[in-house]
Amino acid sequence: MLAQLFEHARPLVEALFAQVNDGVTVQGPDFLLCFANPAAARLLGANSPEELLGRRGVPLLECFQVLDASGKPMSSDVLPGRQVLAGQRGTERVLRFRHSRTGQEQWCRLSAAPVRDAQGKVVYAVNVFQDVTEMVRTQERLSLLAEASELLSASLDLDSTLTATARLLVPRLGDWCAVDLADDASAARRVAVIHADPAKLELARKMSERYPDSAQSIGTIAHVMKTGQPHLTSHITDEMFVATAQDAEHLQLLRELSLRSIIVVPLKARERTLGTLTVATAESSRHLRTEELRLVEELARRVGLAVDNARLYAEAKRAQARHEVALEAGRMGAWEWDIPAGRVTWAPTLERIHGIPEGSFGGTFQDYQSDMHPEDRQQVLASIQHVVAQREPEHHIQYRIILPDGQVRWVEAHGRLTLDEQGQPSRLTGVCTDITQRLALEEDARRLVREQAARAEAERARQHTTELLESLRKTQAELAQRAQELARSNADLEQFAYVASHDLQEPLRMVASYVQLLSRRYKGKLDADADEFIRYAVDGATRMQALINDLLAYSRVGTRGKELVPVPLEKSLERALSHLRLTLQESGAELKVEPLPWVMGDETQLVQLLQNLVGNAIKFRGEHSPRIRVSTTREADTVTVAVEDNGIGIEPQYYERIFAIFQRLHAKEEYPGTGIGLSICKKIVERHGGRIWVESTPGQGSTFRFTLTAAEPQPA
Ligand code: ADP
Repeated sequence: MLAQLFEHARPLVEALFAQVNDGVTVQGPDFLLCFANPAAARLLGANSPEELLGRRGVPLLECFQVLDASGKPMSSDVLPGRQVLAGQRGTERVLRFRHSRTGQEQWCRLSAAPVRDAQGKVVYAVNVFQDVTEMVRTQERLSLLAEASELLSASLDLDSTLTATARLLVPRLGDWCAVDLADDASAARRVAVIHADPAKLELARKMSERYPDSAQSIGTIAHVMKTGQPHLTSHITDEMFVATAQDAEHLQLLRELSLRSIIVVPLKARERTLGTLTVATAESSRHLRTEELRLVEELARRVGLAVDNARLYAEAKRAQARHEVALEAGRMGAWEWDIPAGRVTWAPTLERIHGIPEGSFGGTFQDYQSDMHPEDRQQVLASIQHVVAQREPEHHIQYRIILPDGQVRWVEAHGRLTLDEQGQPSRLTGVCTDITQRLALEEDARRLVREQAARAEAERARQHTTELLESLRKTQAELAQRAQELARSNADLEQFAYVASHDLQEPLRMVASYVQLLSRRYKGKLDADADEFIRYAVDGATRMQALINDLLAYSRVGTRGKELVPVPLEKSLERALSHLRLTLQESGAELKVEPLPWVMGDETQLVQLLQNLVGNAIKFRGEHSPRIRVSTTREADTVTVAVEDNGIGIEPQYYERIFAIFQRLHAKEEYPGTGIGLSICKKIVERHGGRIWVESTPGQGSTFRFTLTAAEPQPA
């Protein structure tokens, strides 16, 4: 009956509800619709009300799908009309419908009311659909923004925050979400990429590996990063895939990913593009539009700020860490003295320098002075007083502190004075550095420099000594070589002199005997000239014999020398004097001999030595009769023998020369001689390991001295 009534009124009802914006349907007990207005058709994704009524052969439930908030299909039992028809109370619900034909989604507030017959039985359900899509979307956007804001401000760990934020957008906004950041000057770094399906993520990873150029969402990310302009492609077509693909495999991958639409927006802060936020749809078949672009832009603005903040924070943290490291490394600590309040504040590093636990510094000016070294306190306080009284801008002082464990450390305080508006000192702020180590290092450095200088000096001295030793060694070697050469040439010479004199003796003896014979036989028988010539010849021959004898004696010192043995010197002198007996008598010489010791010597040579010296003392006598004294002195093993006379003496410039062979100071007419006597003396003394020299006062006398080695007197 009711149905008849309704059919009767249908034209009027249709006309009436065609004007209404909300969707209205009337549903029978078989759940089929017997009425729908155009708004209902639009909201439920049908082309016309007729289609909804099933008249066009499309079953009602194939027009649309009921989805939950996350997009999952729900059972149609949740529809209020069905509940009303089942006798339940109709509830109002907000439901999400996806139109099967277009994939478009619609949010509706849906309510249902029962139509009962006379017996009160429900025969129809009247459904009213109100389009709340805009409202729901706005709400979604607001809550998304709120959640994102909360997330972004919750942590300063950039990467994890960005990943969480990207996760927020999937699947609410799209199927994909990615965040890329420009790292310094280098290429973008993908911080986060989110998709609900791990297989899809793997696919995306594979594509970015194989085709890095196209990895960044068909090249748009790099572009947005560069231009800072947002990008939206609402409908990605297969032609676009074909145009992008580098080869067949690439095309296949692109098609597998099957992106439908994409939004890439820049992440900006302080006019700089820091990265991009990408949202894309694929399998959900949703198409992103300007609305979503606005939302993503709004989100990106927040993300950009968060990135900037996180970077600034990280930078600040790094700077602070650097600062702390520098302070710690420099053993520095900050302090402040609030002058009017009398409060002193110390940073934890300063407490560490003072060896007290963190936070235990008392904070009064008294506390500040408490560990100052008593010897330095007066000076520090005077300096501070001066700075405050004179309004000195800078305070600088070094002093000692005594740590709780008794350790003494040096600190250096640098401070700056701040004045208040009235020009009164308000704060003294600065840093305090532990310079103990620095001072020790400086002292070490100074010590090192000193040591190095000393070492360098020692090294120079050592080098100098080495050089000296080296040159000494060279000189010695040269000397040794010279001596060797000299000895060799001396030996040669001696040999030559010996041979020559020895061999000359024979013919000379003959010449001498014959001229002497001539002289004896023919003297006075020839003329006067002949006598004179013969005399010259005899004279020359005699002198030559004397010379040769002397030369022979000289050369014999080296060649005929005997081994040195203990010799009583007195004996040698006696024998020498016995050889000179005649001369001594003739000259009337007065001889004084002191006791003489035993010496090491070659007796024959010692006799000759003494004979030559005493002989010279007689020969070179002056006007007075000669007085000769022979004496010795002893020092350790050395016996010095002196033969002293009162003769003519020798000028000092000749002290050396007279000991050389053939050197004489007088003509033979004045004092006869060959000039060999003293050379023989010298040679004998030297062979005995001693030396000979003369001291004299011309006109008063000479003393010849020579040294010998003492010997133990031998038993007779
Ligand atoms: P000679 O006696 O054959 O001249 P010597 O070699 O013995 O040669 O002496 C060299 C020179 O030294 C002598 O010519 C003499 O001038 C000087 N002389 C040596 N002994 C004395 C002396 N006792 N007093 C002064 N002059 C001396």
